[in-house]
Amino acid sequence: MANETDSTLALYADFDLKALDEDIDEAKRNAKSSAVVKLEPGKTVLRMLPARASASHAPRPWRTVWKHFISVPGLERKVIFNCPSLNSNGKQPCPACTMQRRKEQSANQIEREIAKDLAPQREVVANVLQRAAPELGVKPWPFKTTIHKALQALRDDINFVDPIRGIDLIITKTGKDLETKYNVGTDPKGPSPVCADNAQLAELLKAMPDLDRYADSPTAAEIESMLAGERPAREQRRGAAGERRGGGSGRTAADRVYDGKVADDED
Ligand SMILES: [Zn+2]
Repeated sequence: MANETDSTLALYADFDLKALDEDIDEAKRNAKSSAVVKLEPGKTVLRMLPARASASHAPRPWRTVWKHFISVPGLERKVIFNCPSLNSNGKQPCPACTMQRRKEQSANQIEREIAKDLAPQREVVANVLQRAAPELGVKPWPFKTTIHKALQALRDDINFVDPIRGIDLIITKTGKDLETKYNVGTDPKGPSPVCADNAQLAELLKAMPDLDRYADSPTAAEIESMLAGERPAREQRRGAAGERRGGGSGRTAADRVYDGKVADDED
């Protein structure tokens, strides 16, 4: 009998708490290296922060960013970048938008399908604190229209970004890839301050990333080189600007685009 038990035991490994700790550590390491908040499957508790006091337009806690996600033959991942035309009110030329308009008018059905893929997509970004990892500080969280609409509806009920009387958001992510779904809820315990200590809160609000920077776009020339499959010399730039990483100064828009998206996926 003892032998039988031994042989059964050899067939499975114990799922102990150490493994769970390792999972959490790994998630935290990933979160730390990422310039933006990326949701893991399951529940994430976030506290969205309000607009900076200096905001000139009607203050809102988020900013809209238009992005291209373009498949390039020979490249494994899509080339992702902010649209220089839409993010700067059309003042900057965008090779992707130009190409899209041209293909849209094509008599060829396939060309018109490609045009759809070239169209810029809307993304919204807001500053959030991740409750599970407050030590990571306030980071931009990019999200899509469905979450944006849910948050707009929630604002009717409560000013959730109020640092004192607001409420934590509970975002539940389920499914994968195109089937990914998000549910937006609020803390069942009710409203709570961002943090109990006022001095700490002031520090936190002062250190909020400038969301306008998230809309920084590459130049037409940079886009051309990305679409030609020539990776921007990002490794070299990173080496040169490595010590300034996070601060952002001295780095090009393309660096920031890559930091936010493609680079993170590769890490
Ligand atoms: Zn564009």
